[in-house]
Amino acid sequence: MSAIDLNARASRDYAQKLAQTQALLQQAALDYAPLAAGGEPRVSLACSLGAEDMVLAHLINALQLDIGIFVLETGQLHAETLALLDRLQATSRAPVQVFTPVTESAIEFVAREGTDAMYRSIALRKACCAIRKMEPLSRALAGKDAWITGLRREQSGARAEVPLIDRSDAAAVKFNPLANWTWGDVWFYIAENQVDYNPLHDRFYPSIGCAPCTRAISLGEDFRAGRWWWEDEAAKECGLHVKASPLTNTES
Ligand code: SF4
Repeated sequence: MSAIDLNARASRDYAQKLAQTQALLQQAALDYAPLAAGGEPRVSLACSLGAEDMVLAHLINALQLDIGIFVLETGQLHAETLALLDRLQATSRAPVQVFTPVTESAIEFVAREGTDAMYRSIALRKACCAIRKMEPLSRALAGKDAWITGLRREQSGARAEVPLIDRSDAAAVKFNPLANWTWGDVWFYIAENQVDYNPLHDRFYPSIGCAPCTRAISLGEDFRAGRWWWEDEAAKECGLHVKASPLTNTES
């Protein structure tokens, strides 16, 4: 059974949610339009290539918005995810930028800590995420005034209060246009609009990250149970969307 067959169920208020999402994306594009004709977009979608972000990339392209798309290619992604990235780059109207870790930092970390460091302690896992995700994210956001994510409140307890627009970080406004979408809404949009998606979703990977840190889940398991499954629930964010302190806004 495909992820579409399994999940595509629109909420009763799906049409309103979709209209709100489209309006938010249009607002982001307007508020953060390039400063000069042909200039760089000042707002970008942080695209993990997961189902939610493929919906947002599709909407940005369908609405022909001046919004960029960036992907953090950690060097640890599944072959299926890399193939989807190739297809997105080939078909997207919006420019797709790929950010990779600093090669020396990644090589030095693996040489020092081994390829299984992330399983040994939360500190080592976070150190790996810092090199492969956080540092590239800081480059991706340089010069941006706003960014867009596919965070949804339903994804986890830690995300239960995600606002549609988050202005708590002075460095960049964060738009979360799918904050109130259900998993069923996401797949309903994918089915209705024939959005390309990662085939790992058909193999019970609802949330897809790096290969060493993602596994399939069983029916009934929590949505993010397949991410960093060896850690306590409280530790399960890579940093992209975590507010480590009132002054620092680190991960997703
Ligand atoms: S998710 Fe895993 S492999 Fe990817 S950067 Fe974090 S610790 Fe490293």
